[in-house]
Amino acid sequence: MLKIDKDKCTGCGECEEVCAFGAISIKDDVAEIDHDTCTLCGTCVDTCPSGALEIESKKEEQKILDKDNWRGVWVIAEFRSGRLFPVTFELLGCARKLADKLDVPLSAVLIGNNVKDFASELIKYGADQIYIVDHPNLAQFLEIPYTNVLVELIKRYKPEIILAGATAQGRSYIPAVATILETGLTADCTELDVRIEDRALLQTRPAFGGNLLATIVCPNHRPQMATVRPHVMKALEPDDSREGEIIEVKIDESLFETSTKLLESTVEEQTGVDLANADIIITAGRGMESKENLSLVEELAKLLDGAVGATRAVTDAGWLSERHQIGQTGKTVSPKLYVGCGVSGAIQHIVGMKGSDIIVAINKDPDAPIFDVSTYGIVGDVKEVLPKLIEKIKKEKGL
Ligand SMILES: Cc1cc2nc3c(=O)[nH]c(=O)nc-3n(C[C@H](O)[C@H](O)[C@H](O)COP(=O)(O)OP(=O)(O)OC[C@H]3O[C@@H](n4cnc5c(N)ncnc54)[C@H](O)[C@@H]3O)c2cc1C
Repeated sequence: MLKIDKDKCTGCGECEEVCAFGAISIKDDVAEIDHDTCTLCGTCVDTCPSGALEIESKKEEQKILDKDNWRGVWVIAEFRSGRLFPVTFELLGCARKLADKLDVPLSAVLIGNNVKDFASELIKYGADQIYIVDHPNLAQFLEIPYTNVLVELIKRYKPEIILAGATAQGRSYIPAVATILETGLTADCTELDVRIEDRALLQTRPAFGGNLLATIVCPNHRPQMATVRPHVMKALEPDDSREGEIIEVKIDESLFETSTKLLESTVEEQTGVDLANADIIITAGRGMESKENLSLVEELAKLLDGAVGATRAVTDAGWLSERHQIGQTGKTVSPKLYVGCGVSGAIQHIVGMKGSDIIVAINKDPDAPIFDVSTYGIVGDVKEVLPKLIEKIKKEKGL
């Protein structure tokens, strides 16, 4: 709340002048605040020549935060449908490096029902400690109990850094956890590092429509929280010889309660190769020129046992469903082979496929930006290049 020290206020009116929301007026030579209109932007506090204004919560926050009490790096394991999801191992790979740099243990948090047997897998992939909360009410993911449990764990053990998957599950409750803890959360990070001097987590992510990469820090609050999309980080090779500590945490029963009931959960039927896990992806761009021409992309993908990807231009045109979209607002992929057919290479697309091992681009414009990130480039018309490529592969395969 914005507070005014009436003894210090001289009624000069500078605060009234700078307030963009009309929340301050001078009455009887003293500033008066309309708290319903005040947004706590702090401009008046910085402007007041006599130091009469103060945002009270800021003072409280400074008091609460003793950053030295917060230590350790955590990864929130994603356990669904009876298995751990690969994003967990990818996060552990990245978090291991952060924990080693900070010289602290790396812990994984495993929430669910009958999950204890999966703890050893987390240890193999780099965790030193596993906090397990196992309860029948956690058998299915529900936002309220999962949020309550995680908040309770964080308050109890005080980790300085928390990483979670930017998946449907992570996106639905990690922001609530950050809000309850009154700390920052950087979503969809593409790079993470730490600055040793102040133990700050350097959270890099695309900003302003993907036109620049911003590195975000959370200097005054703990824990520092970030989400990372699947396939962005690399998992470590599993090490069967690793050992770790398993900590089964008891939580007050009331925290598992929720008025929400999950009636049914249905797994979406997947036709063709799953884009996110495909080793080979043939991607259609606007340069395919029509929906009919996509049959060339589909034929090549089928021949190579690959999946069909798309740029947003293609999904916006309705040539393929959004399920195929790669990029900032689509999926992040890291196949062994990515072939872009009539794809220009806009940054919003590149951020979703730049982790591919080999990138082949077919584009009739020799200056197309996609050639800057390509391993091999073919300058030509997709309608001529693709049939030749298909014919050659068929011949090689004896088809
Ligand atoms: C906030 C935001 C989020 C976005 N998210 C995404 C996202 O997630 N994924 C995504 O893909 N885009 C995204 N975009 C859109 C992105 O900026 C580009 O507009 C889009 O990627 C362009 O798709 P494209 O390469 O298919 O089309 P274009 O940019 O139109 O490129 C077509 C290319 O095909 C070539 N070409 C044309 N005809 C032929 C031919 N006959 N043979 C060979 N080459 C040919 C052209 O030379 C050109 O390079 C986003 C944009 C914004 C603002």
